[in-house]
Formats: sequence, C-alpha cells, structure tokens
Amino acid sequence: MRKPLFLLLALAAFTASPLAQSQTKMRPEETEVWKPVPLVVTPGATDSAPPSDAIILFNGKNEDEWVSAQDHTPARWIVHDGVLTVNKAAGNIETRRTFRDYQLHIEWRIPKDITGSGQARGNSGVFLASTGPGDAGYELQVLDSYHNSTYVNGQAGSIYKQSPPLVNPAHKPGQWQTYDVIWTAPRFNPDGSLKSSACITVFFNGVLVQNHFQLRGQTLYIGMPFYKPYDRAPIKLQAHGDPSQPISFRNIWVRELK
Ligand code: MG
Repeated sequence: MRKPLFLLLALAAFTASPLAQSQTKMRPEETEVWKPVPLVVTPGATDSAPPSDAIILFNGKNEDEWVSAQDHTPARWIVHDGVLTVNKAAGNIETRRTFRDYQLHIEWRIPKDITGSGQARGNSGVFLASTGPGDAGYELQVLDSYHNSTYVNGQAGSIYKQSPPLVNPAHKPGQWQTYDVIWTAPRFNPDGSLKSSACITVFFNGVLVQNHFQLRGQTLYIGMPFYKPYDRAPIKLQAHGDPSQPISFRNIWVRELK
C-alpha cells in the first residue's frame, strides 16, 4: 500500500533530525540502570496480607499500636473475634508511631443491622495524618454508602469535603471492605509556608476512587481547608458521634516510603 506523501516527508524530517541521529549512535547499555537494586520484599499470602516489610498496626489480637487521640493513654476500643470495634465513648484513636509518606491497607465493616441515614449511618474515618486532638488532620471518609444518599464529597471513599470518589464500589453492610492508600505528606518551608501539597491515591475494594488527588489542606466539617505545618504524624481512626451502631476494623498494616 502506498504511504501518503506527508507521512514520508515527516519520516524523512525525523530521521534527519539531531535527536534521531544521537539516538542511533547510542548503545543499549547507556540507558540501563543497575543500582541501587530494589530491596527484596516477600509478598503476603494474599494481596491483602501484609508483605514482609510492613508494620502491623492491628493483627486481630490487641491494640498495642494505638492510643487515645485525646490524651495518648492506651486505646480503649473493643478487640473481639479478631476485629477492632469503635468505642464511641472513648473517642478517636491514633497510632503510637508517626509517619510521613506511606502505603496503607485497612479493612472495615459496617454492621449488618446498621440504622440511620446520611452522615449518621456508620460514620467513621481514616485520618492519614492526625495533626491534633479531635478530628484535626486529613480524613478519608468511612460511611455506609450502599444506597445511602449524602453529599458526595462526604460519602465513603471521599476526601472529606474536598474530593468525591471517582465511583462508588461500596459493598452492602455486613461485608468487609478495603482501602489501599498511597499517602504523600505535605512539605513545608522553614517559615511554615507550604512547599508541596499532600497527595492521595485510594483503591476502595480494589477500585480506584482517588487518583493522586492534591489536597487543599486539612479536611474540615465547617469552613475552607488550610494547611498547618507538621513533619511526621500518627494515623487516626474516628469514633464519630452519630447514634448508629459502631463499625469495626481489621487487618491494618502500613509500609513507610523512604
Ligand atoms: Mg467521618
């Protein structure tokens, strides 16, 4: 088949260009990188099981890695049957350890007999960085979003009041659900001004719902987001004050990114 004249002319122009000539003079080895060799990591038995370099934040046995977000006393949520259930009276809990950038896996379950509607139906949250007591920080919303209407930037998989999920892959109440998160913390200049925004990518039940979203600051119930300088911070789980039954978590692990 004859090639159109403009294609032949474009090809001739490219092969005559300095870029094309320098490419053909290069050897394959010149674009090979051999070091540093990526560390060997043994994957978990399943994709939801922790790989060998993960820090286990909850393994079904105890809440030793967690403290009260209010006063840093030992966490007083309820560990039973291998799961961690919110104790609303005890308030938010956060990790003893602090983190900057990381990969996080966490599983959560709305009670099968959940009641309430809108934001008052299985509300909780994963704060990617806890920057103070209460709800200070950056919240990835947890909520029953299976046939439960609310503002879309407040449904499950949203970055609270900043970014709705791309789609809604929520399971029915009673089923376990997963978040797999890549969190890049914000960076600040020595004078406290913002150097680079926080970024988040989230898979909800294996489905992409946040694609490298740049946060506008901390997530707030009332008002516009703003940044407050911090370096490293705990991960926090929310004990929401709504009257619906408390939700549960399990299999929580994190891989800090250097
Ligand atoms: Mg919440």
